[in-house]
Amino acid sequence: MPAFLEKLTKHIYTNWGDRLGDICIVLPNRRAALFIKDHLAKILKKTSFLPEFYSIEDFVAHCSGLTITDPLRDQFTLYALHRDIEGDQARSIEEFFPYASWMLSDFNEIDMYLVGREQLFNYLSDAKAMAMWNPDGRPLSDFEKRYLRFFRSLKQYYYGLNEMLSGKDMAYQGGAFRQLAEDIENSSEAWPWEKVIFAGFNALTPSEEKIVKHLLKTGRAEVYWDADKYYTDNPVQEAGTFLRRYFKDFGDTEPLWKEDNYAQQKEVHIIGVPKNTGQLKYAGELLLKQLKEKGSLDSTALVLPDESLLLPMLNSIPEEAGKFNVTMGLALKNTPLFSLLDAVLSIHHNAERFSQMREGRQRAYYSKDLLDLVKHPWFGMLSADISEKTHGSLEDMIRKSNRIFFPATDIVEILKTYIPEPAISNLFPSDPGPLNVLASLSGLLTTFRQKFIDLRKDGSHDLGVELEYLFRFSNLLQRLQELVQTYKSIDTLRTLQMIFRQLSGQERIAFRGEPLQGLQIMGMLETRTLDFDTVIMLSANEGILPAAKMPNSFIPYDMKQEFGLPTYRHNNTVFAYHFYRLLQRAGDVYLLYNTEGGPLGGGEKSRFITQLQHEGPKYNPGIHITEKLLSMPPQPGIRDTAIVINKDESVLRLLQKEAKKGFHPSSLNIYINCPLQFYLSRLIRVEESDDIEETIDARTMGIVIHEALRVIIGGHLHRPLDKGSFQQFKKIADAEIKRQFGKYYHEDDISYGKNYLIVNVALNMLKQLFDREAAWLDDGEELFVTALEEGLSTSVQIKGENNISQINFKGTIDRIDSKAGKVRILDYKTGGVVAAKLKPETWEVLFTDPEYSQALQLMMYAWLFHKNHTEVSELEAGIISLRAPGRGPVMMHPPDRRPVDTEVLEEFEDHLMGLLMEIVDPDIPFAQTEDESRCKYCSFKTICNKTVSNFSY
Ligand code: SF4
Repeated sequence: MPAFLEKLTKHIYTNWGDRLGDICIVLPNRRAALFIKDHLAKILKKTSFLPEFYSIEDFVAHCSGLTITDPLRDQFTLYALHRDIEGDQARSIEEFFPYASWMLSDFNEIDMYLVGREQLFNYLSDAKAMAMWNPDGRPLSDFEKRYLRFFRSLKQYYYGLNEMLSGKDMAYQGGAFRQLAEDIENSSEAWPWEKVIFAGFNALTPSEEKIVKHLLKTGRAEVYWDADKYYTDNPVQEAGTFLRRYFKDFGDTEPLWKEDNYAQQKEVHIIGVPKNTGQLKYAGELLLKQLKEKGSLDSTALVLPDESLLLPMLNSIPEEAGKFNVTMGLALKNTPLFSLLDAVLSIHHNAERFSQMREGRQRAYYSKDLLDLVKHPWFGMLSADISEKTHGSLEDMIRKSNRIFFPATDIVEILKTYIPEPAISNLFPSDPGPLNVLASLSGLLTTFRQKFIDLRKDGSHDLGVELEYLFRFSNLLQRLQELVQTYKSIDTLRTLQMIFRQLSGQERIAFRGEPLQGLQIMGMLETRTLDFDTVIMLSANEGILPAAKMPNSFIPYDMKQEFGLPTYRHNNTVFAYHFYRLLQRAGDVYLLYNTEGGPLGGGEKSRFITQLQHEGPKYNPGIHITEKLLSMPPQPGIRDTAIVINKDESVLRLLQKEAKKGFHPSSLNIYINCPLQFYLSRLIRVEESDDIEETIDARTMGIVIHEALRVIIGGHLHRPLDKGSFQQFKKIADAEIKRQFGKYYHEDDISYGKNYLIVNVALNMLKQLFDREAAWLDDGEELFVTALEEGLSTSVQIKGENNISQINFKGTIDRIDSKAGKVRILDYKTGGVVAAKLKPETWEVLFTDPEYSQALQLMMYAWLFHKNHTEVSELEAGIISLRAPGRGPVMMHPPDRRPVDTEVLEEFEDHLMGLLMEIVDPDIPFAQTEDESRCKYCSFKTICNKTVSNFSY
């Protein structure tokens, strides 16, 4: 069973042995050329010129004579066009860039697929206008008008970008394909090769097809397919969809080459393993087993359709496996150095945000960001002695300081005892503008590099991969510096961080290894044209194989179909070919899948596996398929996929609306309990079912008691109240309670049964309270109630945060009184009060633990009151429990048991800003809480599929 590339090499040698220099070989990727050269070297008997080798992208770039642009620079060009088109209405660069990336992806496809541009853009804007049309004649809102204008202007972006590039003999990739395809008759005349050999292709785009067909027609090309009868001769097998058509369209009488490898013996093992760690461990064991049985891993491929498993897989390869080669690139974004540099950028970016939000305050660093930095595994490497438990003690120090913001001087002072210069100055430069921060980060990389080189010298660490990370990030930072100098729009740290993240997602780190020997580790696309005796594939899950996600696009699905652009179906067909082709010459196949659901897959094996199980043995009984599960699969019906709401433009708009309306303490408590719950209940306002009440519920009872208290005490505001006053109130309580219930229920409905009992409970609560209020006063002592159900509000101005320039806060305080000269903020609760939960030990606890929600509410009330009455410099805040009034209101105590005074309230405000920064941060999505005990009383349990019945409390 000769491998495809070996067969191709022999064929080429037989036909072109003397004139190899006259041909050009075009392959789906560059790597295949390495193997052909290796095969040629083995069979060439004399010194000879080699053919020219190209990947299809390089071939097009070479033959079109155009320089292919950097997509990032294209995004800046599109942003410049955006500012020209939109003028004052232009979005910020951070808002526009994601759209620019969608545009580029669409423009690439439009050109690669030779779509009629005018027709498509006109159709698109008409389709959007139709969708926006209001049959009732209602005029379009400003938002709708802007939306439509954007779709109408897509054409301008397309032609604007193309015009700018063509003036410089440049093109984005799709543009180069279109230009070459449209000019193929002329341009191919001057090519130096006698023949162009296309080998190993499957799904050609229309532009590629046009190029190949023209060359075939003029006798300048030969095409070699890597096909198998198993999928090409079966008219419904999707893996052969494209090849069946090409066999007809390209006029091959007998396509070269269609083999029948699936007629050979094959052992296929399907293994369901719980979790990724299980897959990695099992794959490691399989490698050892292969090594023992076959003596080497020379023809073994370890295929990772999920790139995120690459680093953990490298750590799971047994030492005995010897040399291995990694072909797949790893996005720099998936390396630990990325998270360290990103953490440093977040520190400065958030400090910039904070100083914009709070004008006049000293620049300060957010404690959570500092914690992220000191907890990072690489951070400890900066300390003088890496064996010290640097992060542990620093983390303790930051946590115990109970501060939310640290001025630069303070944090530098703290760090000084742990890490030496120049690392500190590189982490906290004195002027943290974009260019300075980049220079400092480069300095930081130099410090790491020197440290790693020293560690390598003493033989204690290998650190080869880490040094490679440093090298790649140093280049990336240099590129960023050039961009900052070229594009004035990168003028904030936020923009810088966005570009840094984008670049880190695009750039890939290539691992070095022995390319042609030993175990080959690769992604799915890297397997093209290659063959192995043994294939071990991980993550063969539905949702990963084929991938569930398509790139974002402005073009709707039905339009894509209409214009022949690729859809997810196309994608599935392409992946089907990769899957079946890879298996066609392999004798031993191990398909591992994760039986537990995750963000990328729901714990099911890929549809390709099921199809193979069904069709394979029918085609050839020599295909033996075994299946085993290493644990029980997840219970049916239980979905364990995380729900994450990214803060895209529409979500930010909702947030903006909410900020304008005003955040109540309850909103913040919901956010602390679970950001997703906040999104569902406060932003999109998913309603709880509103059943008709037959019996009085706790909420109505609470409202009635509050109202009765407002009416009874409300007639005595600002007047002295003594023991006697409360005895008088008790006498009118009965009538007032009944009057209040009468607003909600007919008299008959509350005069018997359960409702009758509830009315009496409410009455008893009220009378008991008046008794206790009288008892709380000494003889002759007086108190003054100054307000009941007092609605207070305030606002905080912030700058430049996603069009949210002001955040309003609102709250209604049940009672404000004054006793012994002290102002008291009091909240009535019909439920119980746990005194310990009104005494948070730290600010962090108050702002992260929902058990302290009542304390947070009281602090908010105190803060709102202080904002409206700055003359009051100290006050008290507490809860009166109507169920058990006890010996007085239960008072709230800020951390360290300090009084609620101006200083404490300012500290509270700083922490509140920290929470707000998180809520409005577009990079922090609304995610589900990780603490499932918080879901117990949540109305969205069904949406989230949280089974909480077996929780113990
Ligand atoms: S059920 Fe749990 S995870 Fe879902 S919204 Fe409610 S609290 Fe959040």
